[in-house]
Amino acid sequence: MKKKIVILPGDGIGKEVTAEGKKVLEKIAELFDHQFEFDEAQIGHDAIEASGNPLPNETLAKLKNCDAILFGAVGHPKYDNDPTLKVRPEQGLLKMRKELGLYANLRPIKLFDELLKASSIKAEILKGSDILFFRELTGDVYFGEKGRKDDGNTAFDLMIYQRYEVERIAHKAFQAARTRKKKVTSVDKANVLESSRLWRQVVTEIGKLYPDVELEHQFVDSAAMKLIQNPRSFDVVVTGNLFGDILTDEASQIAGSMGMLASASVGDTVGLYEPIHGSAHDITGKGIANPLASILSVALMLDISFGLKEESETIIKAVEQTLKAGYRTTDIADSHTDKNKILNTSNMGSLVVEKLEKVTSAQAV
Ligand code: NAD
Repeated sequence: MKKKIVILPGDGIGKEVTAEGKKVLEKIAELFDHQFEFDEAQIGHDAIEASGNPLPNETLAKLKNCDAILFGAVGHPKYDNDPTLKVRPEQGLLKMRKELGLYANLRPIKLFDELLKASSIKAEILKGSDILFFRELTGDVYFGEKGRKDDGNTAFDLMIYQRYEVERIAHKAFQAARTRKKKVTSVDKANVLESSRLWRQVVTEIGKLYPDVELEHQFVDSAAMKLIQNPRSFDVVVTGNLFGDILTDEASQIAGSMGMLASASVGDTVGLYEPIHGSAHDITGKGIANPLASILSVALMLDISFGLKEESETIIKAVEQTLKAGYRTTDIADSHTDKNKILNTSNMGSLVVEKLEKVTSAQAV
């Protein structure tokens, strides 16, 4: 198979982890006889420094002319600490999602058994958790009207949803539920917010088209509590942009660390694959970032965008075997971890690549 992949490393640890994702793609191409052509482009803080634009036209043109995108993260302390700066790295990310029509963000939350002890949640509560989040990506407070009034002393961000935006993501969630445990939990705040009342009404209507799938509604505050209390009670979760942003970071604790969670953003055109974490200024340059979320994002890319299921499963098995052999990055290490098996970012990536070879030759026997 011949595919064109654009790599967008972005800022901070985005650069460090996508380098490992690329290594895995190169090995998969070699082992399964595919031709992956790579191109790289700028986004975020680096792009602002170079051209004043967080999503340069040159980058956008490349993204519109490829088969899949592997993205790292954007963000820089300069902007986090100065809300008055008008041009910001995250504008590049939001514009990219809007321009490419990437309206559904899929975030699988699956715990590798080997990491049961890495979470701060009790193992007996976590074991067997397997949740697929659908976070809406192009609406909500992120894209509604925003501004300041009263000499800057009043600020507002409009939470806005249109029927078609809810319909299309609800369809995706119900379709996915049919291939899983046939249950959808829709999360909103319909007791308070009008946009949530529209959300609930539309999801209920779409749900009637999938009578074989159970639909339940939860308020976001209660869902946040139940996610930690009984994560196994969830199968597919569909929710808006803001609630999805917060709930999936919370759910990262089910998987042990932010460094373990991959995501896929899909819609009308090309698919974008990225870890759920940000640019992590606190660990940038230290070589300790966990690259497994980026590597698992590559597995999602091969499955969802290219239909390469065997290649995708091979990556997941290679990650599983790496963890089973006791290797960890610091974020997923615990008191039982052998100190000699705590790896830096690059060595963790290389070990997964090594395991890919082993898994593939075992499968060929
Ligand atoms: P973050 O996800 O970058 O980091 C949160 C915590 O998790 C940090 O302690 C970090 O060290 C740790 N962490 C994250 N990824 C890790 C990994 N792969 N391995 C080990 N530890 C990891 O979130 P934040 O600190 O709130 O934000 C930092 C910057 O990232 C900000 O500028 C923010 O705007 C940006 N951000 C970008 C994205 C994105 O590009 N998609 C998402 C979230 C935040």
